[in-house]
Amino acid sequence: MRAKIIVNPKAGRGKAQIAIPIIHRVFASRKIEFDIYVTEGPGDATDEAQRAAQRGYDAVISAGGDGTANEVVNGIAGHDITLGIIPCGSGNDLAISMEIPRDIEQACQIILAGKTRKRDLGRVIDRYFANAVGVGFDAQVARTVNKHLKNFPIRGVPLYTLAILKTLLQYQGCEARITIDDKTVINLHPLLIAVGIGRTYGGGIPIVPHAIADDGLYDICTVEALGSLEAITKLPKALKGTHIDDPKATITRGSHVRIQLSTVMPLHMDGEVFEADSMEFSIIPGGLRVFHP
Ligand SMILES: [Mg+2]
Repeated sequence: MRAKIIVNPKAGRGKAQIAIPIIHRVFASRKIEFDIYVTEGPGDATDEAQRAAQRGYDAVISAGGDGTANEVVNGIAGHDITLGIIPCGSGNDLAISMEIPRDIEQACQIILAGKTRKRDLGRVIDRYFANAVGVGFDAQVARTVNKHLKNFPIRGVPLYTLAILKTLLQYQGCEARITIDDKTVINLHPLLIAVGIGRTYGGGIPIVPHAIADDGLYDICTVEALGSLEAITKLPKALKGTHIDDPKATITRGSHVRIQLSTVMPLHMDGEVFEADSMEFSIIPGGLRVFHP
């Protein structure tokens, strides 16, 4: 195996930087042909991953968070190459979906064991994604985390809970029309719309708790707008995945999803924030080969 290891040294407040010597030691001990590339800015991981795919590498390893993995996925999509994950970010939801442990050495060992499987690959607004997209409130939460809380001394669910509370005070919604496989039409004033291949986002929140990563279908969760107080009281449900039983939530499965919004809203894709008022999702069944325990 010839592996390109792409490290985002800023991920997880430097966790990826600290991981470099560990990764080097574990890979070197197995006489694998590998080299480590350290990113310097946005877009670097995509460019380097694409170069590796074009130069015949067998694997690209993303050592960073979900954003780094998303960049790598956008570099390798359509190429015959395997993605490995060494989770070093603040959220690591793709790693959760791939059942990769947070321990750096254990994550490396899974890659070196060489067991792979295919999972679905998502596409929307001219980008690929590997785990999940959220539109509306949850994207605003991701934006709050990226903008204001990146260096706050907490992480994971507590970090996102704080971001959710902060966002609730400022959030203004819109009208949405969602069409799934040309047969289901949902009109609503959404708190959020989540489109998932994996089950969790936001650092472990099981927004589509029954999603299957290789069934060729998205799990789509919609939640109607709630008052701030109601949202706060329902938040513990969402953190456990039992929100799907709430009358204001729906879960639908489908492979083609169109979302039309009354105004431009933030959306997050594997944790990275973008904006759009119109989105068309397609899914590539088995489009991403990954190392898996
Ligand atoms: Mg699925």
